[in-house]
Amino acid sequence: MFPYCKYPENEIHSYLQTVTQEMVLRSLDNLEPKFSDFLNYISPAAENVMEEMREHAAVVRKMYFGNTVRLYGPLYISNICINDCAYCGFRTSYHEHKRRRLSFDEIMVEAKIIKGYGMDSLLLVSGEDPVGVPVDFLVKVVKELKKMFSYISIEIYPMDRDNYRKLFEAGVHGLTIYQETYDQELYKKLHRRGPKTDYQNRLDAMAAGGEVGFYNLGMGALLGLNPDWRLEAVSVAAHGLWTRKHFWRSKIQFSFPRITQVEGGFQVPAPVSELNLEQMMLAFRLFFHEADLFISTRESRDFRTRIVKTCASHISAGSQVAPGGYEEYERLKDKRDLGQFTITDPSSVAQAAADMKAHGLEPVFKDWDATFGA
Ligand code: SF4
Repeated sequence: MFPYCKYPENEIHSYLQTVTQEMVLRSLDNLEPKFSDFLNYISPAAENVMEEMREHAAVVRKMYFGNTVRLYGPLYISNICINDCAYCGFRTSYHEHKRRRLSFDEIMVEAKIIKGYGMDSLLLVSGEDPVGVPVDFLVKVVKELKKMFSYISIEIYPMDRDNYRKLFEAGVHGLTIYQETYDQELYKKLHRRGPKTDYQNRLDAMAAGGEVGFYNLGMGALLGLNPDWRLEAVSVAAHGLWTRKHFWRSKIQFSFPRITQVEGGFQVPAPVSELNLEQMMLAFRLFFHEADLFISTRESRDFRTRIVKTCASHISAGSQVAPGGYEEYERLKDKRDLGQFTITDPSSVAQAAADMKAHGLEPVFKDWDATFGA
């Protein structure tokens, strides 16, 4: 459980079992929902009123985001990693994986391809590779990429305040760090070697990013690790509340990655169904009205098209999830989908945008202006 949550895990677990359909329906009518309403949305009883949840969430989404859906593209810099996360194909103990770290020029090649798809928001991703991808290199990369993209965010290894400040000043405006699981015992079992064994350090890094003033702070858990996805969802929400309270100038963002097939044969301990994923996302939209909710290409085209109408505000598209993946795809026209995770929706950016338009939504590539830069 998120360590600063004021309710103990067993109390939350017991409460969730007592929630009734009537309680969920009453919570749906609450215009300013409290944490107890969030628990009602996430409860087993809410599974029976999903249609009502969808209707209410769609209204909230429309109030805060209109018909817009924002698109972003991930760019993988390195799949070299000093950590040994049991569930990840980039883990240090897995030797079959082709390792690659992009040079400055190779990163620019990837970036130009992504830009050519029409993307204007870029997410830089890397394994924990602080020697090969040091902060000063990232600063140089970001300064160059800022000439091409309006918005840059990072999903890389945790850093201290000074290094985050360097990146912020270079033009990074969003920080995402997944805690993966908030269950400390489970965390210990899954993170066997490397700096990521330090649970608290990961939490503190998000706070350091908040202190530096990143405009967007993204968080989430890797769904399928914790046998009780509801408790994991409660922890993510509690982390969101804590972050919003302490770093109220930043916008909070949530992602909902479900584990998909990875190289190395990791068996997902507790698969989360699509319906449960949808319930979780509805609960977050109903409780965190203004927060950005992300859905990646891990999920199917059909699911993504449905979920943007009720919950999600941001989607990735046309993604390649390995370093050099875009260049290789353009050269060979061969989708390499076993990178950090398996891509379930291989739609191109143009296809994803067309899907949004066909459902009355407006794909937005640029929602960030350099005027607000550091
Ligand atoms: S999840 Fe991240 S930190 Fe863990 S092995 Fe994969 S790339 Fe490295």
